[in-house]
Amino acid sequence: MTTAQDWVHLLGKIDFVKIAKFAKRVDLGELLETLNKLEPSDIQKISASLKKTQKPKMIPAPNGDFYNMQSFLDTEELSLVTKVREFMLKEVAPIANEYWAKAEFPMHLIPKFAQLGIGGLVYKGYSCPGKRFVLEGLIVQEIARTDVSISTFFGVQSGLAMGSIYVCGSEEQKQKYLPKMQNFEIIGAFGLTEPEVGSAVAGGLTTTCKREGDTWTLNGQKKWIGNATFSDITIIWARDVDTDQVKGFIVKKDNPGFKAEKIEHKISLRIVQNALITLTNCKVKEEDRLQNANSFKNTAEVLRMTRAGVAWQAVGCARGAYENALSYAQKRKQFGRAITGFQLIQDLFSHMLAKLTAMQTMVMRLSEIQDEGKLLDEHASLAKVFCTVGCREITSLARESVGGNGILMEENVARFIADAEALYSYEGTKQINSLIVGRAITGLSAFI
Ligand SMILES: Cc1cc2nc3c(=O)[nH]c(=O)nc-3n(C[C@H](O)[C@H](O)[C@H](O)COP(=O)(O)OP(=O)(O)OC[C@H]3O[C@@H](n4cnc5c(N)ncnc54)[C@H](O)[C@@H]3O)c2cc1C
Repeated sequence: MTTAQDWVHLLGKIDFVKIAKFAKRVDLGELLETLNKLEPSDIQKISASLKKTQKPKMIPAPNGDFYNMQSFLDTEELSLVTKVREFMLKEVAPIANEYWAKAEFPMHLIPKFAQLGIGGLVYKGYSCPGKRFVLEGLIVQEIARTDVSISTFFGVQSGLAMGSIYVCGSEEQKQKYLPKMQNFEIIGAFGLTEPEVGSAVAGGLTTTCKREGDTWTLNGQKKWIGNATFSDITIIWARDVDTDQVKGFIVKKDNPGFKAEKIEHKISLRIVQNALITLTNCKVKEEDRLQNANSFKNTAEVLRMTRAGVAWQAVGCARGAYENALSYAQKRKQFGRAITGFQLIQDLFSHMLAKLTAMQTMVMRLSEIQDEGKLLDEHASLAKVFCTVGCREITSLARESVGGNGILMEENVARFIADAEALYSYEGTKQINSLIVGRAITGLSAFI
């Protein structure tokens, strides 16, 4: 028979909220009557056998690669992606928020980043690895998943700056610059946008170049130029006053007449050092003019390739926010249970994952098209629009699922929301890329 002392002991262990919930499903009076007839040793036996049958709940680790895109890689490619992931987690993740807050670039990481061997990954020759665009895309996703600024640094160096020389440079220029840019001995930047000319660069560049003998004189300003505060060279795009065609120049940082000033007070990609460049009678030798850049069509060839990279960056940014938010939500309890157990929160995460997976499948196919050598402007533009719009949505929903703490940097979602804003606008805004797609599918240009 259960004694009064036994009951006092048992009552002390009772969770009355749970009992109240239990009472809605079970006749407690009848249950107590049955229990009262049991010996304490019987109760202990029942309790022990119940504990054995209750398995600990496994909480799945957040995984934003739901359709296993990595399975498209071979062993060697996969080990490179893993190497990049480990570098990002070990070297960048612990300092990303600090450098973002102080708007500084972690210069000490450049030599270590160089050792990954991913500079100019897709180019053939000139010490470049000549790998697949699919691999590069997954690497860009991996970098942006931890920090979008570092993926931008990589995109400017490996895509825009090296790409300009790879696509538009002479054989001699490629030999001279690409190997040293591949290993980050030479850092590059890409100067196209101007203070008064952004979307309209194709026909509206105001920076001028004029040839006299074997020397060109450049005048004008360039705005937003990533890496340019510390880059060794900047590719400057300017309009030839004699032919009205756009030409590209490799301008060195110590070139007289070249001045790069850091743009302060950004609320997005604060780690990236963007510059306002002023060119005042800046003299450049003919040998430093990109020999195969004869019109804006050549500039557009570079942009087509790098826009695909921005789409991958958006996927990485969205994935980082999704995974960090899910990890937070799994630990966060409200109303006595993990918030991930609420239907409305599960709906948020399912929606984010569906969008993210759609974006991933789109960029995977885009990179395959690149590997087939069939990439068109409209292919890259469609993915750039879809993925940057999706990225904005996912980062915003990720923040929502983290509640008020979502606006704190320490929860590692806020930085992604802010960085998504720059991705949305650079390398062609949503409107401009939609117009490129619109022109292709309707046959009518609606630019003006
Ligand atoms: C963080 C960051 C990094 C960058 N890095 C670089 C870099 O390294 N090198 C470089 O050269 N540039 C760089 N850029 C510049 C970037 O490419 C431009 O900001 C972008 O092309 C848009 O130009 P804009 O900002 O002048 O906007 P605007 O052209 O002034 O556009 C303003 C708005 O008007 C809309 N609009 C414009 N024209 C049309 C039209 N015909 N129809 C409908 N809507 C239209 C746009 O879509 C946009 O919404 C960078 C920008 C940022 C923010």
